[in-house]
Amino acid sequence: MDAVVVGAGPNGLTAAIALAESGLEVVVYEAAGAVGGGARTEELVPGFRYDPCSGAHPTGAGSPVFARMPLAKHGLEWVQPELPMAHPFPDGSAAVLSRSVAETAESLGPDASAYRRLMAPFAGRWPQLVDAVMRPPLAGPPRHPVLSARMGSYGVLPATVLQRRFAAERARGLFAGMAGHGSAPLTSPLTAGFGMMFALSGHDVGWPVARGGSQAIADALAGYLRSLGGVIHTNRRIRTMAELPRARAYLFDTAPEGLLEIAGDRLPARSARSLARYRRGLSVFKLDYALDGPMPWTSPDARRAGTIHLGPTATEINASLTTASRGRMPEVPFLLTGQPTVADPGRAPEGKHVFWAYGHVPYGWDGDATEAIERQIERFAPGFRDLVLARRVTTPADLEAHNPNNVNGGISVGSTAGLNALFRPTFAPVPYATGNPSVFLCSSATPPGPGVHGLCGEYAARTALRRVFGRRR
Ligand SMILES: Cc1cc2nc3c(=O)[nH]c(=O)nc-3n(C[C@H](O)[C@H](O)[C@H](O)COP(=O)(O)OP(=O)(O)OC[C@H]3O[C@@H](n4cnc5c(N)ncnc54)[C@H](O)[C@@H]3O)c2cc1C
Repeated sequence: MDAVVVGAGPNGLTAAIALAESGLEVVVYEAAGAVGGGARTEELVPGFRYDPCSGAHPTGAGSPVFARMPLAKHGLEWVQPELPMAHPFPDGSAAVLSRSVAETAESLGPDASAYRRLMAPFAGRWPQLVDAVMRPPLAGPPRHPVLSARMGSYGVLPATVLQRRFAAERARGLFAGMAGHGSAPLTSPLTAGFGMMFALSGHDVGWPVARGGSQAIADALAGYLRSLGGVIHTNRRIRTMAELPRARAYLFDTAPEGLLEIAGDRLPARSARSLARYRRGLSVFKLDYALDGPMPWTSPDARRAGTIHLGPTATEINASLTTASRGRMPEVPFLLTGQPTVADPGRAPEGKHVFWAYGHVPYGWDGDATEAIERQIERFAPGFRDLVLARRVTTPADLEAHNPNNVNGGISVGSTAGLNALFRPTFAPVPYATGNPSVFLCSSATPPGPGVHGLCGEYAARTALRRVFGRRR
């Protein structure tokens, strides 16, 4: 056997594909009954398909590695909602993230030209931006030095600093909501980078859903891998190296905790110790719904968006993330929500919908956030509770039971605060290497971090190809 991959999430599958494309024999072992990890789709109640984890896919649709694979041939179709994202206010108005910079700017009133000025140097340059930003930070000189330097000068800032360019609450709230995807207090360095990249992905690639559900992404990756001769075993939770066949390279699409459990005794003591010090971030509490009709948003813009952020103000969003990071449950949680059936009605019976919402809670929190989350939704969509046909509550512990990578309900597989967003899982020039020359980490615990984009898997596979097999891609 040439290579073994543990875990069939988007990164494990992408790593396996990169190895198989190079003519190597690859086998993948997956703990769950289905491939996909954070890109899966299940039935909530008969007729209603929902995504237990990832739902919206700016980084998937904008991934250069997915783009070069024949995923459409294997069933993947991106579908775009009319608006990538809306950021409603309780008065029924909304700031919006549109495909068009002009429409977005227009929704920001007095800050329209400040927004246009901020985005102008970057809009329309997504491939170069991904190349500049979504790569291992110490991988060598940037290929687009001017763009990298310009984005770097904004991206390193805390979102609370960059948003001072805006005078009014609408633009500040919109930007804070996008920066909040970084799952860290907005006073942390680099959170502005999340805000910029989420805004620019909205303009350049959209925030689409996968037709039929996020499982379609994983199924397309698995289908392509099998077409290259790769083999996937599901229902195989690996706990020791002895359970794996002998191979020249082992790639782990696991959390550092999983790598240490399975191969800790094969790593140099120093590497194992630094992996064990890996910092964890916030946890997530998620609710999924089957609804009797469309979401009753008071904002007409929210009704046509795929993703809706419920803050609404930058101050409230930052307070929510800061409170959770200090170990307390925020009374008014900042929520990321989505209504995939607006773009992809086939996931529910005619006229019905699926809807999801999640908020950040303290790491490993074991309380019940259902009431706080539903109260926040009702602020922007009064009467929403009356439409609920079925509800699935997913606590941090449930998230870990669903996927061992979500240790204690952390969905970013480690802290993304400050430099942890760049140097993952440890500060190392080649973050995919583990100190054992045949063992590599390929999960979102490595750069460029969380998201369904496969880039961690691609970079890890390139490292293994170069170091073990003497090949370059
Ligand atoms: C609730 C939630 C919402 C999210 N929303 C979005 C979103 O909207 N958009 C987006 O782009 N991203 C989103 N993400 C993040 C995204 O899902 C992940 O960043 C991405 O899936 C990471 O891919 P991965 O391959 O590194 O790991 P995973 O997708 O976690 O896959 C790891 C796989 O390895 C398997 N595994 C682990 N340990 C073992 C073992 N010992 N033996 C065998 N198999 C093992 C797991 O079962 C799993 O299938 C979300 C995540 C969650 C949990």
